Amino acid sequence: MQVNTQNQKNILRRDILKRRSELSNKEKELKSRKIFNRLLGLNEIKNSKNICIYVSKSDEVDTICLIEHLISMGKAVYAPKSDKNSNKMTFFRMHSLTDLKVGAFSVLEPSEKNEKYIYSDKNDICIVPALCFDRQGYRLGYGKGYYDRFLKNFNGIKIGICFNEFIKEALPIFNTDIAVDMIISDDKKYCCKGGK
Ligand code: ADP
Ligand code: MG
Repeated sequence: MQVNTQNQKNILRRDILKRRSELSNKEKELKSRKIFNRLLGLNEIKNSKNICIYVSKSDEVDTICLIEHLISMGKAVYAPKSDKNSNKMTFFRMHSLTDLKVGAFSVLEPSEKNEKYIYSDKNDICIVPALCFDRQGYRLGYGKGYYDRFLKNFNGIKIGICFNEFIKEALPIFNTDIAVDMIISDDKKYCCKGGK
């Protein structure tokens, strides 16, 4: 059963990676800007002090402007550092984009010398990337389960961001998959309540 699901997930991953790479830079920029605007309008963002957010690369929803903006708003912003041995992520504080250095998977990562994020407040936010979300908030990642491991112990609000064309009705899932509470796309906001 798990093998079947894994196969289905892998087929979907390949399809979405291909379709996502076919979007033009202009389209990605425009869609990312819409997601940025919708996110900044959320009360959940306004009420938060700590925000965990990935640093985007290539075809992903762009988070660079968003990170700069959140820092300028006075939010404590944390970015992930991935450990390829344990498939676990730890988030460290970033004070500016110049704090970052290329790390695992060629992603820009903060220094381990910076303050480590520890689960603290129910108003904390984690901005969650995905290749694809379903309407219950379940996600398809790159296939290593990094976010499932991190979100298992995260007590705050999980906000997925995704281009609208990659949101599906339902995804094949494992019992280790963690759903987000809402998804912000370039088209709308989906309330998911973490799959409940
Ligand atoms: P992704 O979430 O990146 O799309 P998957 O959900 O397919 O990837 O998970 C990849 C692997 O990680 C699976 O074998 C899954 O069982 C494992 N995994 C996910 N979360 C956990 C966890 N909390 N503890 C142990 N293994 C996990
Ligand atoms: Mg998963």
